[in-house]
Amino acid sequence: MNVLPRSLQNQLAALFGALALLVGLPTYFYIDHIHAQQLVRDRGQALHELAGAVAMVVAENLNERKREIDLLAQRPSFRRGPLDGADLRTGIEALKNSYPHYSWIGLADTQGVVRAASGDMLVGQSVAQRPWFGGGLLGSFLGDVHEAVLLTKLLQVPPGEGPVRFIDFAAPVYDEQGVLRGVVAAHAHWRWAADVVAAVMPRNAAEKQIEVFLVNRDGKIIFPERDLPVDAVPAAVSTHTTYSFDNWGSDSSFLSARVNVRELVDGQPLGWSVVVRQPRERAMADLRALQELVVCVALGAAAAFLALAWWSAGRMSRPLEQLAGLAKRIQQGEEHLALEVRGTSAEVVKLVGAMRGMASTLVSRKHSLELSNLALEQKVAERTAELQRLNAELVQLARRDALTGLPNRLAANEQLTEEFLRMKRSLVPYAVLMADIDLFKRINDGHGHAVGDAVLRHVAGVIRSSLRITDFVARVGGEEFLVLLPNTDIEAAAVVAEKIRVAVEGAAAPEVGQVTLSIGVGRAVSAHPSPDDAVRLADDGLYEAKRLGRNRISVVGVALAGVADAGEA
Ligand code: GH3
Ligand code: MG
Ligand code: MG
Repeated sequence: MNVLPRSLQNQLAALFGALALLVGLPTYFYIDHIHAQQLVRDRGQALHELAGAVAMVVAENLNERKREIDLLAQRPSFRRGPLDGADLRTGIEALKNSYPHYSWIGLADTQGVVRAASGDMLVGQSVAQRPWFGGGLLGSFLGDVHEAVLLTKLLQVPPGEGPVRFIDFAAPVYDEQGVLRGVVAAHAHWRWAADVVAAVMPRNAAEKQIEVFLVNRDGKIIFPERDLPVDAVPAAVSTHTTYSFDNWGSDSSFLSARVNVRELVDGQPLGWSVVVRQPRERAMADLRALQELVVCVALGAAAAFLALAWWSAGRMSRPLEQLAGLAKRIQQGEEHLALEVRGTSAEVVKLVGAMRGMASTLVSRKHSLELSNLALEQKVAERTAELQRLNAELVQLARRDALTGLPNRLAANEQLTEEFLRMKRSLVPYAVLMADIDLFKRINDGHGHAVGDAVLRHVAGVIRSSLRITDFVARVGGEEFLVLLPNTDIEAAAVVAEKIRVAVEGAAAPEVGQVTLSIGVGRAVSAHPSPDDAVRLADDGLYEAKRLGRNRISVVGVALAGVADAGEA
């Protein structure tokens, strides 16, 4: 399904958009990947450095305490004088007061009986079974964290605070001769660890969810004091790598680092280490934020790029669309429309030029075609008029006798029909004469055909000039003439016939001299069914005239007074 039309603008914009993605996406993933690696490395290094700092401060602090006890054991009041002397007591109290985390400092004799102690606690009791006493007899001793065994009852612990934990420092006491006198020891309260760690922790550790743990040689967490599972520190958190991702007993993953606390007493490795962890999600949070920023910027850039592509593609395709619109208008008849298109590219300018040339060629061709059409139509009209004129001429020619110039039989028939119809309407009678040259064959035989023709023309002229303009004469046969006399009764017709006969008789014909005519007279009456009736009557008259001797007129079937058979008279 095509959502967008396949316009040039859409296709160009899609192409640009695809190119932007093609270039942008790999760049984004590459930058993202590199940055993630860098971020993990930096965070891991930072956690490792923090663990190292905590381990160092813990070691320094332990060392400080150990040194204080060593120095206490070497005081003159400890080396000489009674073990329960006032000087010795004063020294113990002074040291305890100098450091708030000392809970108890005391001196036991070689039998393990406490002889002097801060607050006189445990004095007279045996500590022979305590590890610090056994260790202290041999040399400088640093014990692991342990719950108070003997002191719990004596140190008024508020209820709910849980068991008191101590860390023990002990040192042997010798007299001037190097003979062992006893063991001096101090119990430091374990909240000491919290103070030491707090001094090193970065200020934003809580916000960054960074946690610090102290782990003893058995892998047990000894700080902070809370109920963590025994195996809470995953085995993978080792000192072999600077940092690692580990799952801490559950699904939650942490970035962790571990650093060992250094050995403080030769041959007595404490076996502690500092573990620092940060939730993986928190460590990567900055990356997420950066990723979101990069995605936003990339999307914004892509949108801007697409818009730019869309706009410039529109600029490129607009002249073509304009051109198409103008071409369509020209096609629809706006021939003289100017092909003006705003386009800056050379191709568009070229295209406009080419289309302009094409349009003007087409228009001029069309005009010349129209002109030649017009000329053709004019010629056809002229030819048609000429044809009509020739036709009319032909009609005339068809009705005219070529030799004499008189109307011929066809014209005579039409004239007769017309006159007959007129008579039928108006009841005005007319007459018909049939005239025939007498013995014409002899003229032809005696003088030749040409002379015969001349005689025919002569007779025709004489007949014509003997008649009124309204009368009609036609040559209807070889040497036969028909005369139609409109509005003429039979008597007047007989007079006209005689007048013609006399005129022909009296006018000498060329070469041959006198020629004569025989004429039959017929009349048309409204009772006649056809115009032929009157002609037949005239023909009968002509026949009668020939029979009676020629050069005469004859009126058949009508008694005439005075004029009948004039030729015979
Ligand atoms: P009649 O007195 O009985 O009429 O005798 P006629 O000789 O005139 O009659 P006929 O009909 O025997 O002869 C007519 C002649 O007219 C015959 C023919 O050769 C001649 N003729 C017909 N038409 C023409 C023509 O156009 N020119 C010439 N020179 N002769 C013609
Ligand atoms: Mg004849
Ligand atoms: Mg004749």
